[in-house]
Amino acid sequence: MKEMICSFCGRSSREVAMLPGVDANICVDCVKRANEMIDEHLRQEKGASKAKPLPPTPTPREIKAFLDQYVIGHDETKKVLSVAVHNHYRRLEAAGRKGSKAKGAADEFADVEIEKSNILLLGPTGTGKTLLARTLAKVLGVPFAIGDATVLTQAGYVGEDVENLVRYLLQNANGDVELAKRGIIYVDEIDKIASKTDNVSITRDVSGEGVQQALLKIVEGTICRIPPKGGRKHPDQEYIEVDTSNILFICGGAFVGLDKIVAERTGRHSIGFGAGEEDAERQRAKGESLSADVRPEDLVKFGLIPEFTGRLPVITTMKELSEDDLVKVLTEPKNALTRQYKKLLAMDGVDLEFEDGALRGLARKALARKTGARGLRAEMEKLMTDVMYDAPGNTKMKKVLVTEKMIEEKLG
Ligand code: ADP
Repeated sequence: MKEMICSFCGRSSREVAMLPGVDANICVDCVKRANEMIDEHLRQEKGASKAKPLPPTPTPREIKAFLDQYVIGHDETKKVLSVAVHNHYRRLEAAGRKGSKAKGAADEFADVEIEKSNILLLGPTGTGKTLLARTLAKVLGVPFAIGDATVLTQAGYVGEDVENLVRYLLQNANGDVELAKRGIIYVDEIDKIASKTDNVSITRDVSGEGVQQALLKIVEGTICRIPPKGGRKHPDQEYIEVDTSNILFICGGAFVGLDKIVAERTGRHSIGFGAGEEDAERQRAKGESLSADVRPEDLVKFGLIPEFTGRLPVITTMKELSEDDLVKVLTEPKNALTRQYKKLLAMDGVDLEFEDGALRGLARKALARKTGARGLRAEMEKLMTDVMYDAPGNTKMKKVLVTEKMIEEKLG
């Protein structure tokens, strides 16, 4: 056999096994070395992406100003959220700096560990709890996932594993584990997994308490093992590991009946989260708004396990949106419904306007349905069907005015 020379190390095929090429040859040792070099290069690249600096944390004021562009009302809640989220990302910055040799005033606090402040949003449906959480993720540029507590089950039961929440987050981070680890997970309807009695030792409400225990683990911080392609877990499958310690959890729920528990404790009349402006004013004047009133022990009485409430130290209460608020929801946010329709019709050269009375009528319809701002969309769709049917392609139509009368005609 003809002798070959390795084009890289110069040894001959007499000394070492050789892979022949067209214009060059390579020995198996050089193949191995090349492989090692590629692995090392990939490792370094991965390490570099790990060290990607965090984007600068906006100040609480900046966060609130951003929320104001999308969410109507809930001033106090927005403030509380802005501070909690700002602190959360400061905490991550501090943890990131720990390994480095940053000197200065911060040295004094080198051993102080800032704890995570997960958030509990209390308020009726359709007031913007999900919207707030989603908008927060947007301002911070971090991945976001929404889950519904009612479909979660403890591991081993039929239903969704709590780890799926982390899987959605990873998906929304396009598989970037480092990014997912700093994301936000919003768990809706958290009140629905309350045990039905606060005396859990006698009548154990397995499903509710079990899910709380399972959630507690990922909220506290654990390593979730996520199957890379989704689907069920296999014992011999490779997993992507995601540490949840730095994921911010925001839980939301309507907590119907909680106001009574608070009232019992404080000896005041129950006024509900949807209390009128007058009641709220009176409370504010007395410096005792309901949000300040809800204490972890009330939540325990409601059916959340103490360990779980302990992991949600920031509690904030949102009131039902008023008629005025709903009119604002229709017109003011960046992507308010009326703006969306105006944009659609403008594409057909039609100028769309709404009478003030029409907007109020829509708001009243949504109020009557008790679905908060969520109901506005369905009412609007019904109202606009005919216009949206007629306008496109109709060159004679230049302007449409939605009147108060149309509300009665179309929505009854
Ligand atoms: P919740 O989570 O409290 O049930 P959502 O955030 O899902 O309510 O609200 C449903 C929809 O209603 C939102 O997508 C948004 O379009 C609208 N909406 C609700 N509350 C507000 C608000 N305060 N400001 C602006 N839009 C709102």
